[in-house]
Amino acid sequence: MTKPVDPKVLIVVKDLHKVYRMGEVEVHVLRGVSLKIEEGEFVAVMGPSGAGKSTFMNILGCLDYPTSGNYVFDGQKVSALNINQLAEIRNRKIGFVFQNFNLLPRMAAVENVELPLIYGGIPRRERKERALKMLWAMGLKGRETHNPSKLSGGEQQRVAIARAIVNQPILILADEPTGNLDSGSAAEVMAIFQRLNSQGITIILVTHEADIAQYARRRLLFRDGKVVEDTAEARVQETSSRRL
Ligand code: ADP
Repeated sequence: MTKPVDPKVLIVVKDLHKVYRMGEVEVHVLRGVSLKIEEGEFVAVMGPSGAGKSTFMNILGCLDYPTSGNYVFDGQKVSALNINQLAEIRNRKIGFVFQNFNLLPRMAAVENVELPLIYGGIPRRERKERALKMLWAMGLKGRETHNPSKLSGGEQQRVAIARAIVNQPILILADEPTGNLDSGSAAEVMAIFQRLNSQGITIILVTHEADIAQYARRRLLFRDGKVVEDTAEARVQETSSRRL
């Protein structure tokens, strides 16, 4: 009999705290967040404004450090990495998708998608080929040379997703990716995330909307800098109580 292969743990955070100091005032934004996320998970991060969701995502994306606590990403202790190593991880292993798309307005769609490959030192011809392939996979044939202002919101977000995945990341971090989209475009974008997830990419997305969170298989609820609900834990408890 073959032993089942354990899924690989991609993210381990332990007792994360984040404190911002503004003059005399300390703002305690994360208050002890501990959890694991396995490769291939699709996680929705929810919670009221100010709960610490973006701060948590910035730490996961190696854009910010916690004040205390540990973060291990893909087997590497993030606090031990220097600025160049962090930039390398962001460029190679993580794709970012934002609410307002963050495309460069004076560049064509294909040039926006090429950007991470320029930073990665990929030669020009290969860059263009890979960027075009990504755009086509996002259903954007015919839009390659359009500037963002000539594209709809849904199309701009699909360009942004093409840019996020052109380096074949293992993780996508998306902060309210459907926040500026009509419901039809939002559904299209979520279907793309589902497809990418089924190909093995881990996805973590922040959303306020319950119907968007439905696309994820695990939900984390943040309140006052803590995770107050984690559906993965509920599943684990269910399984172990069934065993008793
Ligand atoms: P959420 O994404 O859940 O809305 P955030 O992580 O953006 O929450 O912010 C949590 C709290 O931290 C907010 O009260 C916000 O004002 C504060 N905060 C975020 N970033 C900074 C910063 N750079 N300096 C000071 N306070 C900050």
